Amino acid sequence: MEPLSHDTVILARMGEIALKGLNRGKFEHQLITNLGYRLREFGKFRIFQSQSRLWIEPNLVEGEESLFARNPELAEQVLDAVTQVFGVVSASIVWKFSGDFETIASQTIEFVRSLLSKKNLRRFKVEAKRGDKRFPLNSPEICTEIGGRILDAFPELIVDVHEPEFIVYIEVRENLYIYSEKKLGHRGLPVGTAGKGMLLLSGGIDSPVAGYMMASRGMQLDAVYFHSYPYTSERAKEKVVDLAKLVSHYAGRMNLYVVDFTEIQLELYHNSPQDMLTITMRRVMMQIAEGLGEKAGAQCLITGESLGQVASQTVEALKLTNEVASLPVFRPLIGTDKDDTISIARKIGTFETSILPYEDCCTVFVAKHPKTHPTRKDMDHAESKLDIPALVQAGISNVEVIRI
Ligand code: ATP
Ligand code: MG
Repeated sequence: MEPLSHDTVILARMGEIALKGLNRGKFEHQLITNLGYRLREFGKFRIFQSQSRLWIEPNLVEGEESLFARNPELAEQVLDAVTQVFGVVSASIVWKFSGDFETIASQTIEFVRSLLSKKNLRRFKVEAKRGDKRFPLNSPEICTEIGGRILDAFPELIVDVHEPEFIVYIEVRENLYIYSEKKLGHRGLPVGTAGKGMLLLSGGIDSPVAGYMMASRGMQLDAVYFHSYPYTSERAKEKVVDLAKLVSHYAGRMNLYVVDFTEIQLELYHNSPQDMLTITMRRVMMQIAEGLGEKAGAQCLITGESLGQVASQTVEALKLTNEVASLPVFRPLIGTDKDDTISIARKIGTFETSILPYEDCCTVFVAKHPKTHPTRKDMDHAESKLDIPALVQAGISNVEVIRI
């Protein structure tokens, strides 16, 4: 008997994109580009659309075994990466082969054998889809026949159509496919389909989550970090670089602008009232971010602010912050509870880095009793001794650009 053979490929399902009507082609194209970019580190793949789904296949080299056959763990890693690309609703590792009913039967038994070698499972069902009507058995017949063959080969298994522990999916199309698990993706829309935003990225928990959320709606990101060396350490900056890398797993490539903020912050510290320092600082940050953002083609600013979380995040303070920006300021976490933000940070893998103890803003610059309800008059007074345009200009021209 000929040895059994199949290719291992990945199937990715698209959700919301399918609803995008006329723009659908553009969204799919962007998703394919983003997947290609995300998977570069793993090898070369052929990515294409067929029947509203995407297929990711290792590029076969004449005379060589397929990438996944050589390294089965790689399939799992690629699957993880695929599910992180926005626009993917779920993905599966799939066995692909061609042949007749007997081939399906023998491949299915091998497939179940490999599943059972990894997990202890008992209750199963088979779901079949026949896309190719020339195939002699229809879907229910395939399910019954294959179910029977599985039971013959593994008498310890039980069919349970209501609460199976695993489902064997069989698809008969131009090829034959078997898979079982569907790993959930991060959904959303492909990055690159909804403009570009400049994320104010600190070393905290919130701003990486805010960036992730906007990217999940298709927005491309650049980020800006205000660094006050030596008041904030070199490690604090490395932490922000690490956070930017983690966010880029989802958001794709970005530029991180590191603004040398020390002189500016000292100037603010010495020439504005203590209780208005945070808001004065935030307004300068906004203007520098906007200056950098406009050069980079950003159409909005993004922050991790959440209403009431700290003194600078009251509605009065946010209003005064918005006044200096002409671009819209998006605050995706504005109505989010800290615990929920932390859950997202854990899910996307930024939490552990965010809580590393390098301060993102040196305590010397933090007022002990900041004004929580600053007025227009407070603001004018706070900035009366400052040459704000000069400070903003200094910030814009003192940047290091790091490509993430
Ligand atoms: P985070 O957890 O994101 O740091 P936070 O709750 O600590 O937020 P603040 O430190 O007051 O709140 O900052 C509010 C927002 O301002 C941040 O989410 C971020 O977008 C921006 N921000 C604050 N500090 C910096 C910085 N050093 N560089 C860039 N952006 C900053
Ligand atoms: Mg912070």
